[in-house]
Amino acid sequence: MPLLSNLDAIDAAHHLHPFSDMKKLNAAGTRIIERAEGVHIFDNTGKRYLDAFAGLWCVNVGYGRTEIADATHQQMQELPYYNTFFGTTTPPATLLAQKIASHTGDTLNRVFFTNSGSEANDTWFRMARVYWKALGKPNKTQVIARKNAYHGSTIAGASLGGMRWMHEQGNLPIPGISHINQPYWYAEGGDLTPAEFGLKVARELDEKIEELGQDNVAAFVAEPIQGAGGVIVPPDTYWPEIARICRERNILLVCDEVICGFGRLGTWFGHQHYGVEPDLAPIAKGLSSGYLPIGGVLVSDRVADVMVEELGDFYHGFTYSGHPVCAAAALKNLRIIEEEGLVERVRDDIGPYFAEAWKSLEDHEVVGEAVSVGLMGGLQMAVDKATRRRYAKPDDVGTLVRNHCLENGLIMRATGDRMLASPAFTITHSQLDEMVETLRKGLDHLRDAVGE
Ligand code: PLP
Repeated sequence: MPLLSNLDAIDAAHHLHPFSDMKKLNAAGTRIIERAEGVHIFDNTGKRYLDAFAGLWCVNVGYGRTEIADATHQQMQELPYYNTFFGTTTPPATLLAQKIASHTGDTLNRVFFTNSGSEANDTWFRMARVYWKALGKPNKTQVIARKNAYHGSTIAGASLGGMRWMHEQGNLPIPGISHINQPYWYAEGGDLTPAEFGLKVARELDEKIEELGQDNVAAFVAEPIQGAGGVIVPPDTYWPEIARICRERNILLVCDEVICGFGRLGTWFGHQHYGVEPDLAPIAKGLSSGYLPIGGVLVSDRVADVMVEELGDFYHGFTYSGHPVCAAAALKNLRIIEEEGLVERVRDDIGPYFAEAWKSLEDHEVVGEAVSVGLMGGLQMAVDKATRRRYAKPDDVGTLVRNHCLENGLIMRATGDRMLASPAFTITHSQLDEMVETLRKGLDHLRDAVGE
């Protein structure tokens, strides 16, 4: 690819970026990524970065998989497009649904395809309403979600999400969505033990259902581990209690598996790590390791049986639902995960190695906690470990450390005063060591730069 020296200027003139401060971006210049291999990406100056974030929590099999490129090339030549509307399908779409269902356990046997995680969240939302209506409960329309959650950028996705700044910018949430607290013990647990706090926040669901009226609530949605909200690992008491409340209150449990799905926690799906069974589960990202856009909703027999038997026709779908080329990429990606035993690798080898290395950062003066499950880590920066006192300007702290890492060739993400990591499942032990050491230097920089 020719080096375009003026790509910055072209970008500033013509390209509006998602989640980017465009004013600052135009002044500082866009970072232009040209190629990638394994866990590394390379910018247009030739600088190499270790990508500890797998793109956006998605490139789970690593960059440069020619097998996926070959599979999509072949599919594109055979059948570049056909849809799955009006009772048609293509081999990759159907085989992908089967492959996914082979890893979901006993009850999630069907998949509805979308192009993205946002659409997957819109889709289950409509399904949940349709499900209750078909059962003669048309008032069961409301959804309970969690503060600080991210479920996408469509109107419904951003409304289900609990990001206050997104709501403020777009007059959201839409009616019919309420938010309860997340199980963020470090910041909000006070004097409670994590176990007590897990139960307390889970029971907020029960209180909210009581307030709204059980006959008006369709579903509760949450990620097994809240990702963009800061890798908030819930106390062990949390999920069993949530599942119990959903069951007893007769509302659908929806686990957003867009990040946690396909092995990130060392299980095929995040809910399996916590031993709960959702009725619906949006998926995306790791489904294709980001090689092509594809998402979907895992649908339990409970919901699918009503949709098939009572409803018959669900008036919903996307031109590219189950797109054959994207499905071929996803199918090859899942075969790679199976053949290379990558879920087992996360569970038994690289996940435990990461946990130890990540945890070792807790000896740093500015680290309050460093928690992880599988290859998903969250690190809380704090002024005082004993009192769990946080920095006055959390966003500045995260940005400072993230930028230091970036200068030193490490891509990490910061959410407020938490540093997040989610590397590819193929990352080596020594690459993980390098990642932790570079982050440690970023934390040294924070300690020296900000005294509180
Ligand atoms: N749900 C979760 C948990 C996510 O993290 C994301 C994206 O980061 C989404 C949904 C939205 O997915 P997409 O960006 O593919 O629309």
